[in-house]
Amino acid sequence: MNIILYAIPIFFVLIAIELAAEKIRGTQYYRVNDALTSLATGVMNQVVSVIQRLIPFTLYVFVEDRFAFFGLLETWWLWVVAFIAYDFFYYWNHRFGHEVNVLWASHVVHHSSEDYNLTTALRQTGTGFLSVIFYLPLAILGFDPLMVLSVGALNLVYQFWVHTQHVGKLGWFEWVFVSPSNHRAHHAQNAIYIDKNYGGVFIIWDRLFGTYQEELDSDPVIFGITGSVKSWNPLWVNAQVYAQLVYDAWRTRSWADKFLIWFKRTGWRPQDVDEQYPLEKVDLTRFKKFDIPLPAQLKAYGIMQYGQIATLTLFFSISAATLSLVQQCSLVLYIFAGLFGIGATMEGKHYAGVFEWLRHGLLLIMLLSLSAQLPIVLILWLVSLSLVSVPLLVLGRLLQSRSLRLYS
Ligand SMILES: [Zn+2]
Ligand SMILES: [Zn+2]
Repeated sequence: MNIILYAIPIFFVLIAIELAAEKIRGTQYYRVNDALTSLATGVMNQVVSVIQRLIPFTLYVFVEDRFAFFGLLETWWLWVVAFIAYDFFYYWNHRFGHEVNVLWASHVVHHSSEDYNLTTALRQTGTGFLSVIFYLPLAILGFDPLMVLSVGALNLVYQFWVHTQHVGKLGWFEWVFVSPSNHRAHHAQNAIYIDKNYGGVFIIWDRLFGTYQEELDSDPVIFGITGSVKSWNPLWVNAQVYAQLVYDAWRTRSWADKFLIWFKRTGWRPQDVDEQYPLEKVDLTRFKKFDIPLPAQLKAYGIMQYGQIATLTLFFSISAATLSLVQQCSLVLYIFAGLFGIGATMEGKHYAGVFEWLRHGLLLIMLLSLSAQLPIVLILWLVSLSLVSVPLLVLGRLLQSRSLRLYS
């Protein structure tokens, strides 16, 4: 049973409740472009996890098969132990994810939003392949792979609700559990909060290992990362820090540094590269969120197109195993093209219009190739989303190009 897939409707109900709270309280925690980028990375994460579902899991099964000390039997208390043990290893996975260059290149996606709301929880990396290594001690102890997969999914589901600014501090709860307040601090770019509060469900690991930091009124959290990603393109959001590491490794004259840079502390750069190509210093006193004017028509366009891509992703998640390789590949390519196109439209790229027209044409070809598998209602739904949103694209781009001229 894929627990995350079952949790998705609950996630969207909670997002709707948070949006209602935003309206009632008059807060400004949501922006369409930022929220859609978060959701788009969530889609990428889901597609990638369907593709590689077997790979990391096989490594775990292999280790458990060959090296397990005990054959642990499933009892209710063993589930509790597995849940707590998983969170302990999650802490270290997460901590290394922040503190080592190559692991940060993957985890940075989750921190790249400068807003903080429930969609931020779904902003997940598409390159988390190495995480499985941190859970191998559980395999060696003999925990059943399915048990670990289940408690891992529960751990992730728990973390959803803490991504909100509508809940304040929760008294004793802050001492034991990860909460909205202590996780807000984790998403901050203010110096005082950097590399703090790594827990997934329990915050006690941070208290034990000296990485706890309370959210302070004196230092209001500025969300995001130092060295903003400045993009609504979920593919670039996933690739940016890797690209920086590749550039730096390429440019340095030291052969040792070409190798070591990947495993050094996050932010470390070879000395010659740092001198020749210094990165911009961040001044948080003048912090402004990344934004690009987005007319209402393009907001509606983005939401509708996201609806189309999310529908196809759900279909892919449920029925990937029953599709031919050609169908799988064309579906994945279309989903990625959709995510790219929505991002390019929100960024006002000059090629976005042509790209999107081509993509809507490709939808028809893809639906033809899937016509035996897709119910007719679903085909009608997907086509109508394209038909209704195309006029919005044309009008929205006209207005956007005007405001971009004023903006620049
Ligand atoms: Zn993190
Ligand atoms: Zn988070």
